[in-house]
Amino acid sequence: MPREDYIVTIGLEVHCQVKTESKMFCPCRTGFGEEPNTNVCPVCLGLPGALPVLNKKAIEQTILAGLLLDCETPETSKWDRKNYFYPDMPKNYQISQFDLPLCIGGKVPLYPQNYPKETQDEILNPGKEVKLTRIHLEEDVAKSTHLANSSVIDFNRAGTPLMEIVSDPDIDTPEEAFAYLKTVQQILIYGGISDADMEKGQLRCDVNVSLRPHGQKELGEKVELKNLNSTSAVRRSLHYEIERQTRELDAGTAQIQSTRRWDDDLGETQLMRTKEDAHDYRYFPDPDLLPVQSGLIVARMRQHVPELPHEKAANYTSKLGLSDYDAAVLTADQQLANYFEAVLGLTPGTLETENFKLKTPAKRAANWVINILLAHLNEAGLSPADCPVPPEKLAATVNLVESGHVSNNQAKEIFEALWQSPEKDPAAIAKELGYEPADTDAIDTLIDEVIAANPDKVAEIQGGNEKLLNFLTGQVMKSSQGKANPKLVTEALRAKLL
Ligand code: ZN
Ligand code: MN
Repeated sequence: MPREDYIVTIGLEVHCQVKTESKMFCPCRTGFGEEPNTNVCPVCLGLPGALPVLNKKAIEQTILAGLLLDCETPETSKWDRKNYFYPDMPKNYQISQFDLPLCIGGKVPLYPQNYPKETQDEILNPGKEVKLTRIHLEEDVAKSTHLANSSVIDFNRAGTPLMEIVSDPDIDTPEEAFAYLKTVQQILIYGGISDADMEKGQLRCDVNVSLRPHGQKELGEKVELKNLNSTSAVRRSLHYEIERQTRELDAGTAQIQSTRRWDDDLGETQLMRTKEDAHDYRYFPDPDLLPVQSGLIVARMRQHVPELPHEKAANYTSKLGLSDYDAAVLTADQQLANYFEAVLGLTPGTLETENFKLKTPAKRAANWVINILLAHLNEAGLSPADCPVPPEKLAATVNLVESGHVSNNQAKEIFEALWQSPEKDPAAIAKELGYEPADTDAIDTLIDEVIAANPDKVAEIQGGNEKLLNFLTGQVMKSSQGKANPKLVTEALRAKLL
């Protein structure tokens, strides 16, 4: 049977390092890329008798994630020991949450721009929201590195607060899984909850996938793919696994619940273990930790819930008149959205009020930020927060065009100069480049000369061929040596001739 004859069901478990100064149960610093085994203490080394102390910030951030993702936040939440032999966790249990997690339910909207580029025109379920099961908080383990003849271990990561976001088996395609992971990542960064950098292992993902024939109600046996560390690995491994399971089911081989690893270089999954040796974690409440009463924290964190990208984008289209595309690009990155709003002269939050005032027209500013600024940032490998050109100066440049002082092309030259020397003033650069506010009398004389020299074109224009205004504008631009503003010249010609 072809792959289409089976219903594919996918669920994701995303582990995400919460952005905090210190670890989950001890005061050791969190950090990345530091000298191995320097940020450690008896608690995160798992020494006997060491007592854990809760990190309030990690709990707050997890609740904030829950509020952003529309979860319920139960009054009481507790801590459990998940018992397991962990080579990189010497106390042989992980403190996690079993039956009373911090957040329950919730949903993740799949943003269209987060689907793989080449599939964005054919999104199967537009506007889909993937349902969540829960979000709980736990501690990360140490990091083992396997060398040729030995293994080494770094405990700096051990005890880092780790949030686990579990989705329902609500995802239908590898492309949806891709979009889901990207959107989760985007929202976590938006909320300041995590830097969610997959390359740094701050966001890691396990994927469950099962197939069943059409008509069958209960889900097929699930296969779990462990520790995928990029969105493309999630998509590729799922395509591989769906093909593999289709082949086996076609051949009459029933699937058994199993765990597989993805080899990114070989582009294949490999069996790690089957259900027979599935673990019984024997969860039980951690006697060292009291339950958390979340009520007050929830109330406090509600005040910190930022607008989500799609909510911001909706504001951009309805209140600023931007296209869906422009709004999606600008809100994809919160820093870029902040930059854009600063170009408009908005202070944070003002767009949500009714009487906001723009210093720069939104559509023109959006074009500049998307087409010019973003291209420069991408080329230089900079994030919007590190943009050398401050938003006020981009605004000033855009407004030079708006006021008719310079043409759009001239403004681009000004921006190039500004990119090199951001300390300069756009108006001063305009002057240096000779883009002075045109001497209107002189330009007016040039216009009259061009009209006098082209009686046939003038007659045609007056006969209704207004397109020829562009030709005359070009002539004036030439004789002014590019100093005139084409928009103003065309207006003047129109006023004189029509
Ligand atoms: Zn420690
Ligand atoms: Mn976990």
